[in-house]
Amino acid sequence: MDLFQSIENVKGIGPKTTEILQKAGIFTLHDLLYYLPRTYENYQSATKIADLRPGKVVIRGKIKELAVNRTRRRNFTITEGIISDNSGSVRAVWFNQPYRAKQFDKNKEYCFSGVYDFSYGRYQLVSPSSVVASDMPTSSNFLPVYPAKYTIKPHFFNKIMQNLRTSFAAIPDLLPSEVVDEKMVKIRNRAEALFAVHFPENEADVDRGRTYFAYEELFELILAAKLNKKENSKLKSASLPFSAAKTREIVAKLPFKLTNAQRIATWDILQDLEKTTPMNRLLQGDVGSGKTVVAALAAYQAISSGKQAALLAPTAILATQHAESLDTLLRPFGVHVGLLTGSSKYKDVLKRHISSGEIDLVVGTHAILTDDTRFHDLALCIIDEQHRFGVAQRQKLLLKNSNTDTVPHLLTMTATPIPRSLQLSIFGDLDVSILNELPKGRQPIETKIMPEVNLREDLYPKVKQTIAEGQQVYWICKVIEDSDDAISVKKQAKKLEKVFPDMEISFLHGRMKPAEKDQIMGDFAAGKIDILVSTTVVEVGVNVPNATIMVIMNAENYGLAQLHQLRGRVGRGDKKSYCYLIVDGDKNPSRRLRELEKSTDGFYLAEKDLELRGPGEIYGSLQHGALNLKIATLADTKLIAAASKQAEAFAKNTENMVKYEELAKNIKKYQQLTTLN
Ligand code: ADP
Ligand code: MG
Repeated sequence: MDLFQSIENVKGIGPKTTEILQKAGIFTLHDLLYYLPRTYENYQSATKIADLRPGKVVIRGKIKELAVNRTRRRNFTITEGIISDNSGSVRAVWFNQPYRAKQFDKNKEYCFSGVYDFSYGRYQLVSPSSVVASDMPTSSNFLPVYPAKYTIKPHFFNKIMQNLRTSFAAIPDLLPSEVVDEKMVKIRNRAEALFAVHFPENEADVDRGRTYFAYEELFELILAAKLNKKENSKLKSASLPFSAAKTREIVAKLPFKLTNAQRIATWDILQDLEKTTPMNRLLQGDVGSGKTVVAALAAYQAISSGKQAALLAPTAILATQHAESLDTLLRPFGVHVGLLTGSSKYKDVLKRHISSGEIDLVVGTHAILTDDTRFHDLALCIIDEQHRFGVAQRQKLLLKNSNTDTVPHLLTMTATPIPRSLQLSIFGDLDVSILNELPKGRQPIETKIMPEVNLREDLYPKVKQTIAEGQQVYWICKVIEDSDDAISVKKQAKKLEKVFPDMEISFLHGRMKPAEKDQIMGDFAAGKIDILVSTTVVEVGVNVPNATIMVIMNAENYGLAQLHQLRGRVGRGDKKSYCYLIVDGDKNPSRRLRELEKSTDGFYLAEKDLELRGPGEIYGSLQHGALNLKIATLADTKLIAAASKQAEAFAKNTENMVKYEELAKNIKKYQQLTTLN
């Protein structure tokens, strides 16, 4: 069976169905088979309507009096109907599913599964899913519910799958069965796994099927990483010799002593740079741990060997700040630093100086990536906040060298800690340096959850006092303009101007002109602004050590990692800092916020985030959304370990990648997506 044949050739799928499916992005049999159920309904345990109790229920009956009501809010519909069995009747409602009104045949019996609850003033069955009772397979009452797609209703997929049911046995394998770890994965071939998720008899079938897919996905991902590493080791880079004397000279000029963690990370990196195989190292350091200076020392080693280095940052604000601090640090050692952002003046001149090699260290944003930016001899690329960049952008940067025989060394930096459990398993082969220590003299940030109603009494006096002591405040809002569910930057700034008439208050957001943003950020860094009301544009990297209060409005709207990043904008100097998480009304704060209140350890929080949010999303954000694990949960370390062991053995035999065609194709795709390997 050819999985990649067009769906129009599949038995039971006519031209009309083909057209509908194609519109929804389903082109091949493979696409269709991997269109997995969103959830399952257990129709086995129907309750008599007279016996209904609030909660999730299944009932069996006929439905009548169907009607669609439009509400005053435009485009919002409520569909209602009355379901009856021989014991009684109950009202059913669906929101924004007007098609439900036409879906049912008054004379047929259906099974309905939904939540029976008190809402809108009465008990009713809310958004039940349904299936024609006589359509239910006799072998199983446990039915998949497919996600609706485009205009296709979920039950349409049940029908299509039923048509295909007898062909499942012919589905070829993706992974050779010998790489599937028998102990971990109970199902050993794809046909069985697909059958188990599309036609399960119970929860256990679904679990086994999903475990198989998770294993498939992990195996591919890990194999791709291993092959990448192998390929990387064949490439050549310029060896950048380490000079102890020169490095010591710069370190001696620093206004502080390096932390131990900084020393160790720097040493790892400077040694990597001496090698002729390209470095590919991730520097992980919690917010404020001092990654920039480590990057500076690496850049200096490249530059003192007569080569160039580039530092890519995700925002102009951050690039500008990096350029300034690197210039201050390295200019005394003869290094020419250039700043290239979208709004840089004299870009042509700047680019000429980059291609002639007069500029040694280019700091910039995406503007560096334009085709007309060429380097004379680029030997080191540094990417700050690497998760903000796509893989394509990273690759573009690596290809900027005019000398095509060698590729630059790559140092990526992130303040989003990868949970230890993930690192050990999926990134087992990645070269990582960790700054797990904050510079001496830092006091832990004190974090408080505060209901909005307490601001006046509990926060304003504190803000007033802090500013009177010469320190500064960030005030973060979710939105720029007014909206119903969150206070805007502009409104908040106005409000604060009334509360603190003597203070300098400015606002900042992503839609302002670059020059304007630079001006305001510069003024804030120079201490000319007391309170900076801002969107999350200040989230990444920005460093103003004199700011000691971070207020985050509508804190429930952000993820754990993002809140930790925002909080990291304070506590960057030796003064005690505070972070206030403001929540609306008197709702109980979420677990997320409570964890944040408890801990400032980014690694601990990353583990918690993994627990609370699920790992797909974390890995997804690391990869800029390019890589979405559909099924695998990266928390399943045992499964990962098993897949990793098998992938290691598989990668050793180069013939394997020729023999297993479909697998090889997937691996190629993954290899392009993950440069973290
Ligand atoms: P991040 O890791 O978040 O990028 P930065 O590199 O911006 O952190 O450093 C944060 C602040 O800490 C900067 O003001 C920097 O000068 C300072 N810093 C870095 N290393 C040390 C150190 N070893 N001791 C004291 N301050 C340091
Ligand atoms: Mg930084």
